[in-house]
Amino acid sequence: MMKTGYNGATAMKYSSLEKDLELTERFGYDYIEIRLSMLEEYLKSHSLGDLKDFFASSHVQPFSINAIEYINFRDEAGLEDLRKETAALCEIAREIGAPYIVAVPTFGMNEPERYSWEEIREDTARALDILGGVAQSFGVGIAFEPIGLRDCAVRSIRQGWEIVRDVDRENVGLALDVFNLYVYDGFKDIEDLSLIGKDKIFLVHIDDCENRPIEELDHCHRLMPGDGIIDMGRFFTLLFEKGFDQMVSIELFHPKYWEMPVEEVIEMGREKTLAVIEKAFMGEGTAEHLKTH
Ligand code: ZN
Repeated sequence: MMKTGYNGATAMKYSSLEKDLELTERFGYDYIEIRLSMLEEYLKSHSLGDLKDFFASSHVQPFSINAIEYINFRDEAGLEDLRKETAALCEIAREIGAPYIVAVPTFGMNEPERYSWEEIREDTARALDILGGVAQSFGVGIAFEPIGLRDCAVRSIRQGWEIVRDVDRENVGLALDVFNLYVYDGFKDIEDLSLIGKDKIFLVHIDDCENRPIEELDHCHRLMPGDGIIDMGRFFTLLFEKGFDQMVSIELFHPKYWEMPVEEVIEMGREKTLAVIEKAFMGEGTAEHLKTH
């Protein structure tokens, strides 16, 4: 059965890794995804040994470290930096027992349309092959997460899948983020999920979306699962039909949750995640889909 995860972004303004650990354990999460900035903050007053000790005696376990960024269009020196960064993160991941590092395509690109899809595809596959090679020597996987926003290099389900297939490494797969895939085209392409090999979906980020025009949307519009306009039922039904049974992790960046008590947000995150995935798992997602399409 599906496992629930918590991504530290969700309440990060007033939380800390230490607090996230305590609260995810208290509210029954199976996994935590650790944000690099929060880890760096934690390590100012703790050691990696403290983190290992926590996981040794807790139900909640580390699933990933987020994230390696700006992987696209690097020159040779830039790629060398990327190797070093990946090795440093993989060393931490191995030490604490986190199976994955999340990598995202370059965002904030000026004129992303100046690159052809073939150029982007080749460049991203090359970068991920490097990341995958480094990570393999640490026994860590790379979960590559397409982001549908217009200024991002790799945006859709199909693009992410084509690249991961090109890389063709056992330890390189996809992180599917519901919001990030929705903002590409409002999920007109949602059926493309059926293209992806089950073993290539390493993790899922769950997040709903405010009712606004697509071109206005940004990460700050992510809502708790079930509170927005995304057809979560169809998304998870397609994953379950495939046999997906890995972690589903809540990852929000909405300022309204950042202002709420951290406990409340972390507790609510798991409840809302479970409500959505249980409904889809019971098949109601499918029925809903048939009614409305
Ligand atoms: Zn994500």
